[in-house]
Amino acid sequence: MKRKLILKNFCIVDEDSDFIGSVVVEDGLISNVIHQPYIDDADQIIEGHGLTLMPAFVDLHAHFRDPGFPEKETLESASLAAAAGGYGTVVCMANTKPVTDTVEKALALKNRSDNLGLIDLYPVLSLTKNMDGKELSGITALDTKQNTIRMLSEDGRDVADDSIFLAAFAEARRLGIPVSCHCDAGGPEADAAKKAGKGREMWSRIEENVAVKRAIELGKKMGAHVHIAHVSTKESVNMIREAKRQLSRADASSSYSLTCEATPHHIALTEDDAHALGDESYGRVNPSLRSEEDRRAIIEAILDGTIDAIATDHAPHSETDKAGGAPGFTGLETGFAVSFTELTGEGSALENSITVDRKTIDLKRLSFLMSANPARILGLADRGRIAAGLRADLVIADTEALWTVKSEPFKSRGKNSPFRGRTLQGKILLTLHGGCIVYDTRS
Ligand SMILES: [Zn+2]
Repeated sequence: MKRKLILKNFCIVDEDSDFIGSVVVEDGLISNVIHQPYIDDADQIIEGHGLTLMPAFVDLHAHFRDPGFPEKETLESASLAAAAGGYGTVVCMANTKPVTDTVEKALALKNRSDNLGLIDLYPVLSLTKNMDGKELSGITALDTKQNTIRMLSEDGRDVADDSIFLAAFAEARRLGIPVSCHCDAGGPEADAAKKAGKGREMWSRIEENVAVKRAIELGKKMGAHVHIAHVSTKESVNMIREAKRQLSRADASSSYSLTCEATPHHIALTEDDAHALGDESYGRVNPSLRSEEDRRAIIEAILDGTIDAIATDHAPHSETDKAGGAPGFTGLETGFAVSFTELTGEGSALENSITVDRKTIDLKRLSFLMSANPARILGLADRGRIAAGLRADLVIADTEALWTVKSEPFKSRGKNSPFRGRTLQGKILLTLHGGCIVYDTRS
């Protein structure tokens, strides 16, 4: 006997629909999507009462710190945080201890995650052994038929040697998966700015701009899929926009492609916030929080389609590490609300709202950026939208709810949120993973 769950009379939103209806879930999959008011027998019925039902989010960029840094996060705490934030699929970076640089290490992590059953985890494999930039990692041993590794990345380092970077791009092309380029590695120009005593805001901007240009050039040369992580400067936005324009006119047979992501904190915050939080402590992140002009350029790029996805770059730290200047913010549990408040304009009436831009996107577009398109970038055709036959990875959200961020209740061990004390709009109430409830605030 199939177990049947009906999510009844919800406001159903995905990248191309927004209507009142019901969703039937059987055996972990969406078995039916119904546009009329709906009455039927089921093992379980969840009444919508006007709440919003969306596909669970797909995060292209998170740091789970496992193995190696239990004081910051564990696989379990990160997965609980992801479920609480409405994420059903998470790509996690390889800068663990040891570095995830072999297929075996990646599979071990994936198996542990599958046993927890809270999210679908896709471990990233580093480009080089131990991320030392010298010799290719286990990517050379990856079979083209494998489906566990869906993204490669050297995290914040990229690879200094062009020939090794190109060899890694060649492997990515062979496997048909993207290389996430973090583009905050140094270079002679940035080093010179550092030596000349320029501030971080100056040299870290040069670092990003130089690295984005290089990643695009090398990826194009090798015909690989380049994915630029956490775009934060107006110059890199412009470079990506122009490269995409050229790409649309390029030879269709080329395997080169280009996508990019922005983070909720770069969408919502600026260097003024970093300063208020502490430039070298609670406001520290790579890439740095930039100027208001940069922030607006990111929003423009979301509006015109240059930016393909919103990714959290969830980077949990212990209080001691964060106070000591460790870069990064915990982000899984605020990703949706920050993006919704900032981008849909719903939050503009709030007293301490972070919204300053009047141009907005609708919830369908936000669903595209947080679910459907990141799933596409990973080549996952079975999720990210609401349709019969797809996985029942779903979230129930109250888009009217206002809440003030406090980090103590976070499931994540990382309490280092730059949004503490802010009032946000939009709250995740329930998360379904493969048809099972993995997070529920209703009880
Ligand atoms: Zn990162």
